[in-house]
Amino acid sequence: MTAKIIDGKAIAAELRGRVADASHRLARDRSLVPGLAVVLVGSNPASEVYVGSKTKMAVGSGMRSFDHRLPESVSEAELLALVGRLNSDPVVHGILVQLPLPAHIDAQQIVAAIDPRKDVDGFSPTNAGMLTTGLPALVPCTPLGCVILAKTVQPSLEGLEAVVIGRSNIVGKPLVQLLLAENATVTTAHSKTRDLPEVCRRADLLFAAVGRPEMVRGHWIKPGATVVDVGINRLPSADGKSRIVGDVAFEEARNTAGALTPVPGGVGPMTIACLLANTVRAACALAGLPPPTFERPKSDD
Ligand code: NAP
Repeated sequence: MTAKIIDGKAIAAELRGRVADASHRLARDRSLVPGLAVVLVGSNPASEVYVGSKTKMAVGSGMRSFDHRLPESVSEAELLALVGRLNSDPVVHGILVQLPLPAHIDAQQIVAAIDPRKDVDGFSPTNAGMLTTGLPALVPCTPLGCVILAKTVQPSLEGLEAVVIGRSNIVGKPLVQLLLAENATVTTAHSKTRDLPEVCRRADLLFAAVGRPEMVRGHWIKPGATVVDVGINRLPSADGKSRIVGDVAFEEARNTAGALTPVPGGVGPMTIACLLANTVRAACALAGLPPPTFERPKSDD
């Protein structure tokens, strides 16, 4: 079997197109331009790349983007004060504080200080709790992107066996909640799980969000399963540069899986597209407008 490769780049571009349409309609019909504030502390090269793409794509989708670059030495109090100003700024509908933050700043405090209605990363305790209890919430972008990708292959996840490897607050746990909401039967695996390959082999849907290069081997995968690889791992390559690989051994997996996301070009582009979608959702909710839908037309095969 050769797996269908799920083209996250193309699916993300389509979603961004629908988000841009919604954003332009809001500007035209309601004089409402969704605004995204991105806060970057310090000069982590990977974070600078992410923040640059987010800003560029927000503007490209008809939104306003507000960049706040702060030195590594900024104090927690100064960062909290900035978050407070963004919370009360009416042209800002989404606030994203790029993680990780320097060690002297309590990231949980900062995230909790973001107005939950503007928390477009969906990391605040309020949004996490609302997602868990089935209330409408701003949902973390990466898990949201994972479910959208899986549904391009299996439009209904109802009754399917899903295994999520990883239980972080930003990927694994919210992904589990989203899959439960889709009526999948969900197992969460982590570093203490016994016989992980056997657990994975049960999965009709396998999600790997671990951060260990190519950990998931071909023989861990049930033939025909849909595999979504969240991992982003940098490995040295022969030319002295580096290459990015996922948590799944791609070449092995493509001989067993029914469908598979590549790295790069799978989940990564979906994360930004979902962030833009969340910004439009937040803008509508703050303006008392009904939630926009960004449903994909149902002709995917
Ligand atoms: P994290 O906070 O480090 O969590 C990793 C999870 O993997 C933990 O739950 C850990 O278990 C589990 N784990 C570690 N070693 C394991 C093993 N040998 N067997 C089974 N489980 C194991 O990472 P994260 O933030 O969730 O990110 C995971 C990966 O996704 C990383 O590669 C990250 O770069 C990538 N990522 C990609 C995107 C994107 O946009 N594509 C976004 C976010 C993250 P314990 O809980 O027991 O420690």
